[in-house]
Amino acid sequence: MRKAFISPLKYVQGENEIMNLGYFIKQYGKSALLIANPDDVKRVQDKLDHTKEKFGVTIIESGFSGENTRDEVKRLKQLAIEKNCDCTIGLGGGKAIDAAKSVAEGDALIIVPTIAATDAPTSHSAVLYTPEGAFDDYAYFKQSPSVILIDTTVIANAPTRFLVSGMGDALSTYFEARATALSYSQVNAGLPNGSKDMNLPTIGTNTALGLAKLCYEMLLEDGVKAKLSCDSNIVTPALENIVEANILLSGLGFESAGLAAAHAIHNGLTALEGTHSYYHGEKVAFSTLVQLVLENAPADEIDEVLNFCVSVGLPVSLSDIGVTEVSKDDLMRVAQIACIPEESIHSMPFPVSEEDVVNAILLADQIGTEFKKKAS
Ligand SMILES: [Zn+2]
Repeated sequence: MRKAFISPLKYVQGENEIMNLGYFIKQYGKSALLIANPDDVKRVQDKLDHTKEKFGVTIIESGFSGENTRDEVKRLKQLAIEKNCDCTIGLGGGKAIDAAKSVAEGDALIIVPTIAATDAPTSHSAVLYTPEGAFDDYAYFKQSPSVILIDTTVIANAPTRFLVSGMGDALSTYFEARATALSYSQVNAGLPNGSKDMNLPTIGTNTALGLAKLCYEMLLEDGVKAKLSCDSNIVTPALENIVEANILLSGLGFESAGLAAAHAIHNGLTALEGTHSYYHGEKVAFSTLVQLVLENAPADEIDEVLNFCVSVGLPVSLSDIGVTEVSKDDLMRVAQIACIPEESIHSMPFPVSEEDVVNAILLADQIGTEFKKKAS
């Protein structure tokens, strides 16, 4: 059976690590194109100045528009050529990182996440948007980023909600990996462009499943401590462990061990207006609960997940993600999106119907609501 695993070439995290950014630029040459929102640059300007001077490198600011569109990628690529850039840096949150991936196309790419809100930084894919900010397409590159560089001091000083949301994204990793392994479903690590439709069925490795399990264990062990650390803007071993779980373990887990029902249900839930002000990982946390109900996971396991979510402040009910009134038709719409043929929900080890999804959402909502009542 064909198996595959994909990962970034190097992962480095530490306090004030951006001070060492110049060292990594130097591995490629003298100058780097910086793709970042101006606000994020401001937050780390002192460290950028320090590293430029210390390592004698040039960092060229690109005036990133804030949206990863085809036109913006073209403009940034042109700028990189004009300025003779030897490598690309994506610094900040999702869109700057995706734009940097799109410009670098898998070569000489340094990713510097300034929040730990999702597991996207390590992956070899990006999301393209239209100029209006709507979803355009997924892009896959020949390689994952060359360097993931994380400054834990910066993460500790970002709003706690980002870190907690990242824990929600990381929470689904093990359960989706487990389902994908049980069903021998394909993972997108096996092909250069991530496409699953070439005739080369590829399943995940034991390695990736093991990392996904470790991700879940680290969340349970250090989640609450890390949240409190972030509230106090301090770097502690617990915060460091959660940064690693949110970005590295969850990232390797989802790419190489696969996604299943939780992320598909998340995608369906985005059709409900009320959820729009909630972060990706917050919706994924509730969707994880829905997956566990869908697969009729043991009551102890569901309790463990509920306990974790409530202890760090992750959603466990529809009202927690802004859905206070919902009709059966609304939920059917969610289920239809979650069950389209390309969705990862079909990686579950049993057939899933739209009706099953609606019922699982309803029961998960009830279980979560009851649990919170008891806990308070
Ligand atoms: Zn995710």
